[in-house]
Amino acid sequence: MTSNTDITLVGGGIMGLLTAREFYKAGATVTVIDKGFLGRESSWAGGGILLPLYPWRQQPGITQLVKQSLGLYPNLASELLAETDIDPEWNPCGLLITQNPDITAAMDWCNHNKIAFEEVERRLGGLETTPVHPLFLPHIAQIRNPRLIKSLKQDLLQKGVRLLENCLLSSINLENNSVTSINTSIGNLPINQLIISAGAWTSELMVQFFPTIRDNRPQISPVKGQMLLFAAKPDTLPTMVLDGGHYLIPRLDGHILAGSTVEANTFDKTTTSEAKDQISDFALKLLPVLKDYPLVKHWAGIRPGTACGVPYIDKHPEISNLSINAGHFRNGLAMAPASAQLMVDLILDRPSSVDPEPYRLDRLV
Ligand SMILES: Cc1cc2nc3c(=O)[nH]c(=O)nc-3n(C[C@H](O)[C@H](O)[C@H](O)COP(=O)(O)OP(=O)(O)OC[C@H]3O[C@@H](n4cnc5c(N)ncnc54)[C@H](O)[C@@H]3O)c2cc1C
Repeated sequence: MTSNTDITLVGGGIMGLLTAREFYKAGATVTVIDKGFLGRESSWAGGGILLPLYPWRQQPGITQLVKQSLGLYPNLASELLAETDIDPEWNPCGLLITQNPDITAAMDWCNHNKIAFEEVERRLGGLETTPVHPLFLPHIAQIRNPRLIKSLKQDLLQKGVRLLENCLLSSINLENNSVTSINTSIGNLPINQLIISAGAWTSELMVQFFPTIRDNRPQISPVKGQMLLFAAKPDTLPTMVLDGGHYLIPRLDGHILAGSTVEANTFDKTTTSEAKDQISDFALKLLPVLKDYPLVKHWAGIRPGTACGVPYIDKHPEISNLSINAGHFRNGLAMAPASAQLMVDLILDRPSSVDPEPYRLDRLV
């Protein structure tokens, strides 16, 4: 294959696609390859809540990217809608968190990060739970991630970004600590700058293709998550709800997602009856009216897990034209726009609006 581009991304989930869009906007030519169809792994399977669960319990490195992304999403969604006619359904429907034993920490975090909150009454309309200092965050949004992916893909095609699906990275050719080309299932691609944005597969690829590099290796492991979908009527549930370790997400068409499981160290996307029972018991108990609606889908996705949930976004210190943007664990959609901008800032040597330190490859795990 000929036609060299400035940037090649391996992995076309939300990280690969948004990073490609940022590079395009900076004037670079871009190729994205994916072993399957673009955006069909974790980025398709996720729920699309644009805030971590209990954000005050998370690392500052997560908060930084989430906050920056919160400000970027409205424009991103309206640009994509205008450019592609596909609505990614950015929807600031708010998030109700029913049980907050650590309410002081929660309110301190909201105040510090300028996230609006309301302490709500103990009775929560239509919901059957045992509230503990329930908190409503009225401006928190969701994104309908499968539609976000669809509109991003369309947008990149219209912009002339080269998107290669069913294109598996199979080996990497190096000379003097620089990647010269990659071999894929559909041919050889010359490389100027290579970015690995392969989600849960990133660490495997690094071990396979850079066996002699022991330090500066991202520690990312697969964490399976299963979800259910109920075909409810619009307005059955007005807001997203987090209740203990599970949540409900109402889409604009009435469909309600219920999630999720957290199953470590597996790439197996088989769904299980145990998970189905666990999530549907939770959903029907919390929102009894759901029993009137059919459960229409059950799926699993593989999150790119890191020990603290903080991703790796860095230029590789040992390979001159290799970078990583991966390991966003449970919050990849919430962190994606800012992560993509940071990756581009680092490679183009632009000043960055977020501190890059937490995302370094040489950080201590
Ligand atoms: C059940 C569930 C619920 C979630 N809910 C939320 C939520 O509410 N909010 C939120 O912010 N996040 C959520 N997440 C997490 C979020 O989905 C992920 O953090 C995010 O999608 C990661 O994006 P990614 O692009 O890094 O990975 P992926 O979307 O997994 O993309 C990686 C891509 O790399 C490709 N690839 C791998 N190996 C190769 C190779 N050798 N050659 C070519 N291509 C390759 C894969 O095919 C894949 O398409 C959830 C995830 C799950 C599973």
